[in-house]
Amino acid sequence: MTLSWLQFSQASHPTKNLDPSSTQYPGGLKTQFHKVKPGDTLIALLEQHGFDIHQRTEILKQKVFSENFTLIPGEKYRTASSKDHAFKELKFYEMPTNNILIFWRKGPQAGSLSRTETYTIKTKTARGRITGSILASINQHTRDDFVAQRFMDAYALDYKLTKEVQRGAKFAVTYEEKYDGNEFIGTGEVIETELEINGKNDKRQFVSYTDGGSFISAKYIHKDRPLYSPVSYQRITSQFNRRRFHPITKRRTPHLGVDFELPEGEDLYASAEGKVLRMGKNRAAGYYVVIRHVNGLESYYNHMQSIDARIRNGSYIKNGQVIGKVGCTGYCTKPHLHFAIKKRGQFIDPIPFIKSYPYKEKALIVQHIEAFNDDGATSLKR
Ligand SMILES: [Zn+2]
Repeated sequence: MTLSWLQFSQASHPTKNLDPSSTQYPGGLKTQFHKVKPGDTLIALLEQHGFDIHQRTEILKQKVFSENFTLIPGEKYRTASSKDHAFKELKFYEMPTNNILIFWRKGPQAGSLSRTETYTIKTKTARGRITGSILASINQHTRDDFVAQRFMDAYALDYKLTKEVQRGAKFAVTYEEKYDGNEFIGTGEVIETELEINGKNDKRQFVSYTDGGSFISAKYIHKDRPLYSPVSYQRITSQFNRRRFHPITKRRTPHLGVDFELPEGEDLYASAEGKVLRMGKNRAAGYYVVIRHVNGLESYYNHMQSIDARIRNGSYIKNGQVIGKVGCTGYCTKPHLHFAIKKRGQFIDPIPFIKSYPYKEKALIVQHIEAFNDDGATSLKR
């Protein structure tokens, strides 16, 4: 499997320079992998690798990285240098996406760029039993938070996993590993999962498409759910919870919607047809849109980077119409969509109302569900 949702568009990462590492150097380039140490900053690393003050200033000025860009201790980066050290390049990997950032110097010049990397993909399967929390149990076998979180995402629309999965339940998870040459860089998408729930195995498969992907199940096809997914990729970072502890205000404040984490600039879709009830910007929600649907439901989209120019108060919205882009406006620490629905004036948990895929992928997903044979789970019996 070489395709992955992680090939996100480059809209928010313009290329500022051509890649000088693609030119030939006498004697070739010497490459080396390193790990970010606690306290490392981009500027300190550039200085360490011989970028002078003018070169560092130039790189900062070019701003190819987003405001949220930080180095995480333990993360890998790669250096490449010519034999005479006149050329040097630092390459950083923006996991879990396929974006990379390159900072280079060549003689007195310096520059930076951002592009999509083509990794060598290997798949790996981990099997085990749930012993403590589900996240911790999966993490123990995969040593990767992202894989564990995606495992949860695979079932999130159909179960309250923390309540419905028993101690000792068997699981299996197949996921991608990304390699730059022979070097392991990080894990990619989860492509198949199995989990024993109420004594039965529930198998899920990931179907990818150009700007995302969805988990499908042979049993839960969401035919009767009235709303399509407002995003092309459901990475759930916060569930509906009337008694949530708020990370910013440090107080118990209800979380009256679901948070989907996505890279800034990704498209947001109307979850059904309807009319724009309200839109605009406020302090908490940032840029937001509210749509009233024919079935009486209202859907809310908060923290948007921008609202599509065609959206106006009172305008008719088609099912799946692009209404804006993912952002981090209002009370927000990381780009995401806060999605909420109201029924008879009350916010309710959106999860039982939404399908796992956006309207535009309807035909593709239905086709995959029909072909998906959950054969009663052979692999957990092994
Ligand atoms: Zn939220």
